Amino acid sequence: QAKDAGRNRVRFFSPAMQTAIDSRMAMEAALRQALLQGEFQLFYQPQFDQNGRRIGAEGLLRWRQPGRGLILPMEFIPLAEETGLILPIGQWVIDTACDQLKAWEDQAHTRFLQLAVNVSARQFHQPDFAARIRASLKRSGANPERLKLELTESVVLENAEAAINQMHQIKALGVSFSLDDFGTGYSSLSYLKRLPLSQLKIDRTFLRDIGTDPNDAAIVRAILAMSRSLGLEVIAEGVETEAQRRFLHESGCHAYQGYFFGKPNPIEDWDTASRS
Ligand code: C2E
Ligand code: MG
Ligand code: MG
Ligand code: MG
Repeated sequence: QAKDAGRNRVRFFSPAMQTAIDSRMAMEAALRQALLQGEFQLFYQPQFDQNGRRIGAEGLLRWRQPGRGLILPMEFIPLAEETGLILPIGQWVIDTACDQLKAWEDQAHTRFLQLAVNVSARQFHQPDFAARIRASLKRSGANPERLKLELTESVVLENAEAAINQMHQIKALGVSFSLDDFGTGYSSLSYLKRLPLSQLKIDRTFLRDIGTDPNDAAIVRAILAMSRSLGLEVIAEGVETEAQRRFLHESGCHAYQGYFFGKPNPIEDWDTASRS
């Protein structure tokens, strides 16, 4: 009935628009509730080296809303970003990742694993973001060298000077950076050189048609050649087939992530899934 009340009050909007606003507000309220109720969960997708050894994981956010099941990030991250809720949510992701790293470090067979997490623009550009990372590392006792932050080109480009400065502060803690979805943005080579990155992550759209589109194959090879000359590691995301893995391997890409190797899963499945 709240819906009806809203409809009568706000006369400027058509019923369809009002419904959209109502559902947006309902979703925002639900997101706030999700933080309080602990409905977020980090899934872990394994990353492998050329010898088939597990080298780490990417943490991927999931929302387990009672009665709705598992909700993927594309359905709630945009609204979380608009409303600013991405700040506490992103903080939860960092804290959870650091705790997981510490748990891995405490076990001999997982202590070498790296964990990458995605950071959104608003989160990254907080003036105290570096201090927050430092505090989370300290609280958890996780080794900063095992933590990787994934940024997209647009996050960095939004305010390049501030971003580079921010990255240097965080790098000084021992944390490393990966440039996510690489190849879909606008980075020029000279610009890329100024970012304190350790890794490029080849966007999965380039792998999709690699067998049939010679341009995509050429782009992947160019990214690999460029990374070599800049001294950057490369990981391919979205590797779904053995043919894609072989192409990447033969082109000199030595780290992989994708359904071919393992899907994102809750941590409970980590030790049984795609064990090498
Ligand atoms: P991303 O960082 O580029 O993550 C890779 C996405 O590709 C993930 O989607 C993953 O599940 C999916 N993926 C992995 N392997 C394959 C494959 O072989 N084939 C295909 N088709 N897809 C594959 P997901 O988990 O739905 O996440 C989507 C995006 O949401 C992420 O893209 C990232 O930008 C964002 N995201 C996820 N978690 C977080 C988070 O904790 N914070 C923020 N700010 N953004 C997040
Ligand atoms: Mg990512
Ligand atoms: Mg990506
Ligand atoms: Mg992507």
